[in-house]
This record gives sequence, C-alpha cells and structure tokens, in this order.
Amino acid sequence: MIIIMLGAPGSGKGTVAKLLSKTLNLVHISTGDMFREEVQNHTELGMEAQKYMEKGELVPDEITIKMIQGRIQNSEGVVFDGFPRNKAQALALNEMLEVQNKKIDLALQLNIPDEDIIYRTVKRRTCSNKECGAIYNLEYRKPKVDGICDICGSPLTKRADDNEETIKNRLNVYHSRAEEILKFFEEENLLYTVNLRAKDNITEEMVKNWLEDYKTIKK
Ligand code: ADP
Ligand code: ZN
Repeated sequence: MIIIMLGAPGSGKGTVAKLLSKTLNLVHISTGDMFREEVQNHTELGMEAQKYMEKGELVPDEITIKMIQGRIQNSEGVVFDGFPRNKAQALALNEMLEVQNKKIDLALQLNIPDEDIIYRTVKRRTCSNKECGAIYNLEYRKPKVDGICDICGSPLTKRADDNEETIKNRLNVYHSRAEEILKFFEEENLLYTVNLRAKDNITEEMVKNWLEDYKTIKK
C-alpha cells in the first residue's frame, strides 16, 4: 500500500503518517525528517538543503527526488510525508513506482485553517530521539513532564523553522503549489480530504475510519 500525505506545514501530516505506518505496517518516509538529518550530520546535501529550509522555501526538485530515489528501493508499503510537494515531484514519483510495478493507493489531504496552523506550529515540540519522533503541542498535547517525551524520556526540541515568520512563508509556498498537486491527485481519483481544526486530537481510531470511508467511496 502506498499513501501520500497532503496538507499544509503543521497540518498534522507527520502525526497521521506515524499512525498509518503503525496501523498498516508501512515505512514512513518524511522528506523533512530526512533533510533535517542531513543538516544535523553536516553532509553536502544537508548544507545545500539548509539554505532553503531556513527560509521556508522548497529544496530544489533534483536534490529532493534523488534523495527519495535512494530510499524507496525495496520498501513494500510506504507512507510519504512531505513528498511530493509539486507536480514535477508527483510525476517523478509515479515514474519511480512504475519501474517497481507499484502505484499510489491514496492521497490523504489534511485541510486545516491557516490561523490554526500558525498557532499550533509555534507551540510544536518534537522528541529529539529519531527512533521515536513523537510530536507534542504546548497547548493541545502537553507532555506529562515539561520538555520530556512521555514515550521514551528523551528531551523535546523545537524545530528551527517553527517560528512565525518562517511558518508564514512555508504556508505561502504551500498554497502556491497546493492547487496543482490537489488537482493532480483528484484527476487520478486518489484524493480523500479530511477537515480538521488545530485542537483536534487525531487518534488511530479516526485514521482507521478515514481509510474505511475512502474504501467505501472508491467502490
Ligand atoms: P513542513 O511541512 O511542516 O513545512 P517538513 O518537515 O515537511 O515541514 O519540511 C521542512 C522543510 O524541508 C521544507 O520547508 C522544505 O524546505 C524542505 N522539504 C521537505 N520536503 C520537501 C520536498 N518534497 N521538496 C522540497 N523541499 C522539501
Ligand atoms: Zn520520544
């Protein structure tokens, strides 16, 4: 099964992708996480990507696509989080999958108002342990102990690009590309949209219901 997560930055793609990967036993591929790892390891790719990330702009397609190509070689089921982000990337992904006799099963869009996103993202904290990567919110989903992950006990960190100015730019960048990519998946008859608010606590149960509903609609 191959699922694409669509939605603005801070819409909850990462949270839903984690639930999906657990429920359906899929490999979770997050381009944002991959880039942050490259930055942390000071790789050449990371140094290049950082220039765009700190401004909230997209890393050029050649770099992004090449990075993905290396990762999807032999994974059966995948949930893509943060990729594709424009039509060129979507076409490149389709080509990569075709070679492996695979195809996309669902493009799941999380639709949430911009003002909710700004508020939520500024208060977002992430577990620093990459194996865990749990996501918290100082308003809606507080950790039990300040600054510590409930699940694994590692310190929580704030993403460098989760400040108001960069978020606003990330939202602009998102909206400028959203139409073409939504249309692309709509035409492929793969788009399923969920309307959410920032305070909604997404559960495994909810995600399962969306999948069921999508299956029913598809029939
Ligand atoms: P968000 O969706 O909250 O902005 P991500 O973690 O998905 O966060 O991405 C962080 C940054 O990484 C983006 O602002 C962009 O610079 C870069 N990035 C991630 N995925 C892609 C992609 N598919 N194409 C180009 N740049 C990307
Ligand atoms: Zn953790």
